[in-house]
Amino acid sequence: MTRRAKPVPDPENHGAFLPNGQAAKSGLNKSILDAGWGVFLSVLTAKAEKAGRDLIPVNPANTSRTCPECGHCAKGNRPSQAVFTCQQCGFTGHADVIGAINILRAGTALRETAHAA
Ligand SMILES: [Zn+2]
Repeated sequence: MTRRAKPVPDPENHGAFLPNGQAAKSGLNKSILDAGWGVFLSVLTAKAEKAGRDLIPVNPANTSRTCPECGHCAKGNRPSQAVFTCQQCGFTGHADVIGAINILRAGTALRETAHAA
């Protein structure tokens, strides 16, 4: 469903291609994938409610680049896919664990904000 538009070879100019609507298809693909996440989130919310759990959606941006010790956020904190090394304080850990810590903190903060309001 989110496959790219097929290239259309130009019969008059060998090796060239005619417009195939890929730009429009690209926008449609983004919408389809967005809707996919929306459906996933609503199903997950229902499952969590049924299990008596809270679901707190968290924006994952920079969660695996931010140091849980000092809060320094930089692309350079991730020298590789798995390794996290804070360029400011030297804190090290597995990048997935760092991401999980930061997502848990963000979710907890959102929950406390919601309860305070
Ligand atoms: Zn740090």
